[in-house]
Amino acid sequence: LPSRGRADIAHALGLRIDESLIELSPGTRDRCRDDAAPLHSILRNVFSCRPQVVVFPDSGRCVADIIDVCIEESTPAVPRGLGGAGLGGAVPVTGGVVVDLSRMCKVLDLDAGRAMVTVEAGCTWQNLRDSLAVEGLSLVSYPANTAGSTVGGWLSTGGYGVGTLVAGRFHASVESMEVVVPSGILVRSDRGDGRYSIGSFSGTEGQLGIVTSLTFPVKTGPEMVSYRAAVGGRAGEGLELLERLCALDPPPVGNRLLVGSLGRTWAGTGGLALKGPVVAALFEGSEAAVRKSDAGFTAAASGFGVEILGGEEAGGIFEMQATDPVVGTQESLVRCGEITIAVDRLTRFIAVLEKALGDRGLLDIRVVDRGLALVMVFAAAQRPQLPPVVRDVPATFRISQVALQLGGRPYGIGIWNTPLAGRALGRARKSLKVIKQETDRPMILNPGKFFKLTTSNGLPVWGWPYKLGLDLIRRF
Ligand SMILES: Cc1cc2nc3c(=O)[nH]c(=O)nc-3n(C[C@H](O)[C@H](O)[C@H](O)COP(=O)(O)OP(=O)(O)OC[C@H]3O[C@@H](n4cnc5c(N)ncnc54)[C@H](O)[C@@H]3O)c2cc1C
Repeated sequence: LPSRGRADIAHALGLRIDESLIELSPGTRDRCRDDAAPLHSILRNVFSCRPQVVVFPDSGRCVADIIDVCIEESTPAVPRGLGGAGLGGAVPVTGGVVVDLSRMCKVLDLDAGRAMVTVEAGCTWQNLRDSLAVEGLSLVSYPANTAGSTVGGWLSTGGYGVGTLVAGRFHASVESMEVVVPSGILVRSDRGDGRYSIGSFSGTEGQLGIVTSLTFPVKTGPEMVSYRAAVGGRAGEGLELLERLCALDPPPVGNRLLVGSLGRTWAGTGGLALKGPVVAALFEGSEAAVRKSDAGFTAAASGFGVEILGGEEAGGIFEMQATDPVVGTQESLVRCGEITIAVDRLTRFIAVLEKALGDRGLLDIRVVDRGLALVMVFAAAQRPQLPPVVRDVPATFRISQVALQLGGRPYGIGIWNTPLAGRALGRARKSLKVIKQETDRPMILNPGKFFKLTTSNGLPVWGWPYKLGLDLIRRF
């Protein structure tokens, strides 16, 4: 590199990668200070920095070049999909280079004979789903927000969602991946043990590498798809019905329970008066199997005094994003926490949350593994003033704490759950930390979160001052 008076990451990057991939505009850089969750201004100032550069790599080789330059310039690199996880994981705590993978969105190979696909990590689940449909194929598993989530992002944040109750967590089905590790080398990662195995990159939120492409199975068909929904009934019955559905043989490919006082928030959405629990299911497969499952749904729901819906109406409920009903209104529905918890602890968790959120809460629950539920918590708020409980980050942290008290775990660490990471990751945290220390000595990749929380100035933050700070903000 030509000698420079001071480190200039943009200049150094321009010498290695195509300049059209480098964005310096203040607008683009500022956008990266946030993700899907709205931030309180105090937290934004303390825990995020405007990155010096945002880069949009176009290949795995290009990502490796970017990391090489970041090592040389001692500059942090923060991978980003669509920022859909909302826990601050894709936010640059101490600035640096945001590696935005959203332009690496190609389907690289589609082997219809083997029902196997290779995609770039920035491909959204919705685009992949559309490309597969043209070939008569479909996804085995995917996150609920197909349009707001990249393939690499979902692997990096956990991989639980639609289809995982049947097929298992996403990483278990991935055949191989390409990943740029913190030394700037592009490696091929496959199953098995070891630091560069697929399992190490699953749920580690871009701490151990940047996933650039993935190869995994898809399925042919399906021959038939059917949605079913049960609306109404008494509180508590929704959960009982969900459990009965998941015990069907085979269980539904997708399942969903919506509970909370939704009447006010969802009034006027397609005429649905969602005052009681709503259970929805997706069945896929051969015509005979789907018809059997449909009958199983009706049998399971009988005796609950619910209205059973099918076809488009039920499909609309299953596919609807919880935030859809308030789009374009003065209301906002804030996603303030995501946790996993054993299904048999759900009754208690729902009761605690309903008490805390009053008539503003909505819980979007899916059984994603045997006996395990993924719960997304939403709270309604009138713009611009958010009620105290909806001050997103304190609420997120509080909900994670409640989950831990009841034997659950926060789903994702990011910035906001870092003080709880020891309890959330359990024994795995120690071995992951060793890999991090050994493979990322200069701490280039996504620093200031996950293993150790720091402020944007690099000052370490410990658990109790963090909790106290969040409590103060909540009262503000
Ligand atoms: C309505 C709604 C429904 C949702 N449903 C689900 C669900 O069913 N299941 C679920 O798991 N989540 C769900 N989420 C949460 C979120 O959408 C997912 O976590 C999503 O997969 C994030 O993808 P992303 O590409 O936006 O990642 P980002 O938010 O951009 O990144 C998340 C983390 O992963 C890292 N990262 C991103 N891309 C890469 C990469 N290629 N390599 C290495 N690290 C990377 C980032 O640095 C960051 O730490 C939902 C969210 C909403 C709003």
